[in-house]
Amino acid sequence: MTTGLPLVACFGGTFDPVHNGHLQAAEEVRERADCLEVRLIPCHIPPHRMTPAAPAAARLAMLELALAGSPRLRVDARELQREGPSYTVDTLVSLREELGEGVALGWVLGADAVAGLDSWRDWQRLPELAHLLLLDRPGYTLPKRGAVAELLTPRLTTVMADLHAQPAGKVWCVGQTPLAVSATAVREVLAERRSAAHLLPLRVWAYIKQQQLYGYGSVPGREAESE
Ligand code: ATP
Repeated sequence: MTTGLPLVACFGGTFDPVHNGHLQAAEEVRERADCLEVRLIPCHIPPHRMTPAAPAAARLAMLELALAGSPRLRVDARELQREGPSYTVDTLVSLREELGEGVALGWVLGADAVAGLDSWRDWQRLPELAHLLLLDRPGYTLPKRGAVAELLTPRLTTVMADLHAQPAGKVWCVGQTPLAVSATAVREVLAERRSAAHLLPLRVWAYIKQQQLYGYGSVPGREAESE
């Protein structure tokens, strides 16, 4: 057990739907950074991308199904309870209000999201509010120059204990096992009415089939295969 501040890591995303890449990454963040807990935070209206394909209630239900039985991974629905676009800076302010200064806060970001970080609202404030915990994603590398690199590089640490020594301000590469699965790929598989049984937890797969989400099983006269 690491000494110092307990660390709560938060993993924001559209989770449209949650898949094994998210879950493996969340579990590895928890283990490698010795987190008290990892919260998965589904966004209400993503500011930088298309409206999610599944309704918020379904994305939330799938996350709850996915995390049942993982006591240190939990869903935090605060962005769904807020009107308007889900800006990470607002979420971090509200998490800090809840947790106080006696807890270190980590915001988990995939390398794909880091590439566009400078388009996020008040992005330069993010390290004031949380440590940034960066995930590898196949096909993406972290920027080496430019405004994002200037913000992140001086804060980089390879020492996990640094994340427990102060409430925010460090940038740490998680170095997790990257799984080449994305929600886009899951939605494509489902739109072609193929099985996604091994890309996400079985309970989520059962829910998608039952609710006929993402076009799966929605063609009249053509039954989607059951797994
Ligand atoms: P989409 O394909 O719809 O863009 P996504 O699979 O990238 O979705 P999001 O919900 O947008 O999932 O991602 C939330 C966070 O999870 C992002 O920081 C993203 O980089 C990260 N993430 C998604 N898939 C993986 C994966 N396979 N491994 C590690 N991180 C991932």
